[in-house]
Amino acid sequence: MDNQQKLPFGEKHHMDNQQSLPLAEEEPPSKQDLPSTLFRRKFYPETTYQDWHNWRWQVRNRLKTQDQLQHICPTETITGSDLPFAITPYYASLLCESAIRKAIIPNPMECEISSLESIDPLGEDHQSPVPGIVHRYPDRVLFLVTDFCSANCRYCTRSRIIGQGQRFSQARFLYGLDYIQQHPEIRDVLISGGDPLTLSTERLEQIISAVRRIKHVEMIRIGTKIPAVLPMRITEKLCKMFKRYHPLYLSLHFMHPAELTWETGRACERLADAGIPLGSQTVLLKGINDDVDTMKQLFQGLLQVRVRPYYLYQCDPIQGSSHFRTDVEKGLEIIEGLRGHTSGYAIPHYVIDAPGGGGKIPLLPDYYQGKIDDRVMLRNFEGGIYTYP
Ligand SMILES: *Cc1c(COP(=O)(O)O)cnc(C)c1O
Repeated sequence: MDNQQKLPFGEKHHMDNQQSLPLAEEEPPSKQDLPSTLFRRKFYPETTYQDWHNWRWQVRNRLKTQDQLQHICPTETITGSDLPFAITPYYASLLCESAIRKAIIPNPMECEISSLESIDPLGEDHQSPVPGIVHRYPDRVLFLVTDFCSANCRYCTRSRIIGQGQRFSQARFLYGLDYIQQHPEIRDVLISGGDPLTLSTERLEQIISAVRRIKHVEMIRIGTKIPAVLPMRITEKLCKMFKRYHPLYLSLHFMHPAELTWETGRACERLADAGIPLGSQTVLLKGINDDVDTMKQLFQGLLQVRVRPYYLYQCDPIQGSSHFRTDVEKGLEIIEGLRGHTSGYAIPHYVIDAPGGGGKIPLLPDYYQGKIDDRVMLRNFEGGIYTYP
């Protein structure tokens, strides 16, 4: 409890690895987290405020079966699929009322597999010199350190790994580390998985500090969806640990403005206060976030909690994902609907991660209209034509 005095929000429950303590008062008075409090009282009447805000309780009590899901969303059914259904009770509180559910609850459409789809659409397994490392770009690698996520997204580009019981042993970790050590051209290491923030703070620190000790590694990045699905994981203790390993960047996965709750906002602000630059990654999903208004709300909302939209991905052709994929024109339309109409900071790069391992390829609406004599013709966000000598 050594960090208690430093907690800015007057709470007593943000402690890793600790049994929750029964407190006299049920919960601190707070209007901001009322929605999740009402949800907890309704569906988890036995659960204390302290337990609910304990990330390990959330992980232990993940919803995985149809019965558990129907208790909360009575009309939803789960259809069989390789990628298991799993979400935290916290994330379940956002599910029934929003389009998020379409990206989380297994759907029979997943069984429709087209010949253009693949279990490893980005060819990561072919660009993996040692297990757990994907070395696609000259100066940076992806370092996969766990196969566990606290919530499984149906469109996951790495669903071939998630929850399939691959062993992420210490030996495997050391091989990956050794590979980075042996390659001085690697100046940027992107730690991902699974979700690295589901590891204990101690384990995460072992990983980050080991990578940080490699002289030629200039920066470390972590890819995670935790602030959206398990914001209680962002404890003061975790942020304090992160601060020791700068420059450390976080890429946060968000799909919909409904994810921007008070709890999530607070988690992002804590990370930002720890000096961590925060970027977001979003996958364009049909019927979920494929319109300008939804995206604008999401990206502007992220800026409010100091997260800079980084990438908008065209959905990878993962097996059984055709019902999620939009036309590429839809993505361009969204970018066009944002540029000029909102802060430039709210506009991510729209990219296709090229199937087969080509890497991320950026796409932009055609603002360049060609050349007349010695002038370039340009179209602005309102459709006006301008020339530049
Ligand atoms: C996305 C990705 C990166 C990081 O790419 P940036 O454009 O630098 O963010 C690195 N390696 C792999 C394999 C990736 O998929």
